[in-house]
Amino acid sequence: MFKFQNCLDFAKKMDENDELKSYREKFIFPCFKDKPVVYFSGNSLGLQPKKAALYVQEELEDWASFGVEGHLLSRRPWYSYHEQLTEMAAAIVGAKPIEVVVTHSLTTNLHLLMVSFYRPQGKRTKILCEAKAFPSDQYVLESQLLFHGLSKDHLVEISPRKGENLIREEDLQTLIEQLGDELALIMIGGVNYYTGQLFDMKRITALGHSVGAKVGFDLAHAAGNINLELHEWGVDFAAWCGYKYLNSSPGGVSGIFVHERYAFDLSLPRFAGWWGYDKTKRFKMEAGFEPMPGAEGWQLSNAPVLTMAVHLAALEIFHQAGMKAIGEKRDSLTSYLEYIIDDVSTRNNSCSFELITPRDKTKRGSQLSISVKGQGKSLFDAISKEGVFADWREPNVIRLAPAPLYNSYEDCFRFGEVLQTAIQ
Ligand SMILES: *Cc1c(COP(=O)(O)O)cnc(C)c1O
Repeated sequence: MFKFQNCLDFAKKMDENDELKSYREKFIFPCFKDKPVVYFSGNSLGLQPKKAALYVQEELEDWASFGVEGHLLSRRPWYSYHEQLTEMAAAIVGAKPIEVVVTHSLTTNLHLLMVSFYRPQGKRTKILCEAKAFPSDQYVLESQLLFHGLSKDHLVEISPRKGENLIREEDLQTLIEQLGDELALIMIGGVNYYTGQLFDMKRITALGHSVGAKVGFDLAHAAGNINLELHEWGVDFAAWCGYKYLNSSPGGVSGIFVHERYAFDLSLPRFAGWWGYDKTKRFKMEAGFEPMPGAEGWQLSNAPVLTMAVHLAALEIFHQAGMKAIGEKRDSLTSYLEYIIDDVSTRNNSCSFELITPRDKTKRGSQLSISVKGQGKSLFDAISKEGVFADWREPNVIRLAPAPLYNSYEDCFRFGEVLQTAIQ
């Protein structure tokens, strides 16, 4: 292995040798005064694909030209619009097409999936999740318990040990084994949004199944970031949003995964809507719900074509690049940013920041969270003023996400320069 260097020439050389370097041109970077922008907020809102405007414009044109007939006559018929997204979305999460559908938004999908997969019965009532889960997930879990007439005591949270930042997987295992036949469901973020810790989803799924629990993952910070094999791992269900690593517009559409083993399982209860109804008979409009096989059976409403047009533009980019190449650059780019942060940190021993994201690259994706002691917020404000897009999470964490499709090694170098100046 060659050694990283904190200098512009080195960063530029890395960019020259980057097989994904041309992908940067496929995205639009925000403007920031007269300064070059370092966009490390792709874990909050990914950048806009240049093609998105064209695809949205085409749907507006077809709507203007065809009116209601556009459902069948537009260039990408709205009636089946979501179907053209399925294979590309499935490839991103390591699923078979029958296991995936793009629909609704993330929190909605979590509820819909929990209605089917959280079925407390007898003493098997508990849900295991990570402490300090993303707030929306906490509200989902609590309100699902209430919906079943259960108190919050049925929610079991796993925390890092005292004085540590990350959850130990051996603790997770112990807890799953202890809960045993009281455990109904494990619902965890595949990547923790705050620390960037990546969980071993294959292992957690096997552990959950070994005690008879269902296992689902919120992949908001994992889809388009981590190399996933949801089918192989045997995960029961999962959901993710389209607008973080997947660059598909603010509030854009979400994806769901339901394992193939349930594709024809009519015994699962669900909240149904007409778009989940067997499409060959949908327009007979008869009473009595007959679901589409697979994930499509969880759709409620007809497809929001305009946001799906953006998603189509983004998925095409992922399809072209492939998750394998994306994953390789993710690891290399994130390691380079880590090296830069360490270098700045050692050169300024008066300032103290600590990387709370795992240093093991098999335990993280393209996110680094730094915990800043003391003047954290003012340091964050100072780098923001210099054109760095990062985000601040109370009480003292700066999150940075170098996205492999559009960030460069030069971005990491520039970030180091800005950080160095801000510290001084
Ligand atoms: C971003 C995010 C959400 C957001 O949910 P929406 O329904 O898309 O607003 C939920 N959960 C997690 C873990 C997230 O990271």
